[in-house]
Amino acid sequence: MEPIFVKPVLKETLWGGTRLAAEFGYETTSDHVGESWAISAHKNGDCTVYTHSGDSPYEGKYLSQLWAENHDLFGRAEGESFPLLVKFIDARDDLSIQVHPDDEYAGKYENGSYGKTECWYILDNTGDGKIIVGHNAKDKAELCDMIDNGRWNELIRQVPCKKGSFFQIVPGTVHAIKNGTFLIEIQQSCDVTYRLYDYDRLQNGKPRELHLDKAKDVITVPANPAENETRLVFEDTKGNKITEMISCEYYTVRHIEVTGELQIERGKGRNFDLISIISGEGFVNDVPVKKGDNLIIPCSEKAGGKITLSGEIELMQTY
Ligand code: ZN
Repeated sequence: MEPIFVKPVLKETLWGGTRLAAEFGYETTSDHVGESWAISAHKNGDCTVYTHSGDSPYEGKYLSQLWAENHDLFGRAEGESFPLLVKFIDARDDLSIQVHPDDEYAGKYENGSYGKTECWYILDNTGDGKIIVGHNAKDKAELCDMIDNGRWNELIRQVPCKKGSFFQIVPGTVHAIKNGTFLIEIQQSCDVTYRLYDYDRLQNGKPRELHLDKAKDVITVPANPAENETRLVFEDTKGNKITEMISCEYYTVRHIEVTGELQIERGKGRNFDLISIISGEGFVNDVPVKKGDNLIIPCSEKAGGKITLSGEIELMQTY
C-alpha cells in the first residue's frame, strides 16, 4: 500500500520564528510559528492526510478519523486514540521552563489524558549551545524553596546541545528549549504542560498561567541524568547509517542517513511506521519525498516487509 502523507498543522507561539516556513516551505503568513505538528491526531491539532497518487480513499481525512474508521491501516496497534505526536520546533526565543505528568497523574488529574514522555533530536542550534534538562535540587524541600523564591538559575541544569544531540525527556523532568534551537520532537500524544517559569513574559498583555503546585507534585527529585548515551548503530560500506536513538515503552526512534539505496526493517509488529524527512530528497517505497515531508507507512502483514529508501536523505523513523 502506498505511503500516506500527513499535512502539518502550524502553531503560532510567543517564542516561534520563521525557520519552519523558510526551511520546509510550509505555507504561513505568520513570523511566529513555533511548532509544526507534523504527525498528530490530537484534538488540538488533528492533521489531514493525502497520498502521492491522490486517488486513495483517504484523501483529506483527519488522522483521528483514519485511526477510528480505517484501523486496519495501523494493524493491531491499540489505544483509543493515535498514541504518538511528531513535532518540529523552531525556538526563536526561550520556551517556558516546564514539566509533564506521567500517564497515572495525567489520567487522574487531566481528564484521562495520556502522560507525556518526549524526546528531542536537535537539527540545529544557533543559540548558546545549551538546553535545560533536569535540575539541581537535592530534595523536595530544596526544590520547593528554589521555586517559591524564584531561584531559577540555581534550580535549572543546563547541558550542552548541538546538532545531532538527542534527549529523552521522561515525565517529571524539568526542561526548556532555549532560543536558537531547531529540533524534531517525538512524544506521546498529550498536550499537558505544567509551566514553572516563563521569564515574566506577557502574551496579549498578560503573563501566561503557571502551574506550580502540579509541577512540584510531578518533578522527580533528584533529577535523572540528562542525555542517554547508549546507541545501537548499523553502518554499511556505502555510507548508509541507522542509529537507534531510543527504544522505550512508548516509541522507538531511529535516525537514518541514506545515500543511494537502503532497505530498513519495519517496526515491531509491522503495525505502522512514521517517517519524517529532516534533510535532502529521495524516495520512500518509490514515492518521491523531500525535506519537511511526513509519512505513515501503513500496516503490512507481509512477512519480512521492509521499507525501501533511496536518494540522499536523512530521516527519523518512529514506531
Ligand atoms: Zn515538554
